[in-house]
Amino acid sequence: MSFGEKVKESIVTRAAEGLAVSITVILIWAMTKISPIVLPAIESGLSKPLLLSLLLASLALNIVLVVLFWIINKKPDFKLKYGIYWDSNKNPHCPNCKIPIAGYGNYEIGGKGYYCKPCKKIFPLQDAAGNDIEPSKAVEEL
Ligand SMILES: [Zn+2]
Repeated sequence: MSFGEKVKESIVTRAAEGLAVSITVILIWAMTKISPIVLPAIESGLSKPLLLSLLLASLALNIVLVVLFWIINKKPDFKLKYGIYWDSNKNPHCPNCKIPIAGYGNYEIGGKGYYCKPCKKIFPLQDAAGNDIEPSKAVEEL
């Protein structure tokens, strides 16, 4: 990523944060103005058991949404071994883009390693000293 792109991304992120804060402040201000008018009307118009059941339903719905959000956003647990990411099922993943890779071999250009098609690169399976490690040995040690 070039310097210009980084600056642009940073400005966009800051603008989004600023907008979110502004909207939150406006919402809180609106709530403080509206609630004294609306709350007595709700209190006289609705029975307490109905309000309580609405509150409990809202709470249950929020808990369900939080759990769903957590499940959707759960990131796979990667372990870095010999320069390659491994998932919990011992499948290799690209150390750059983290997608699954399986093409281990001795390539004419780039040498031995895993080939990642989107990155167009070969990632060697080597220990810290630069010695080639066989995939079976790496999987065994996971
Ligand atoms: Zn990749």
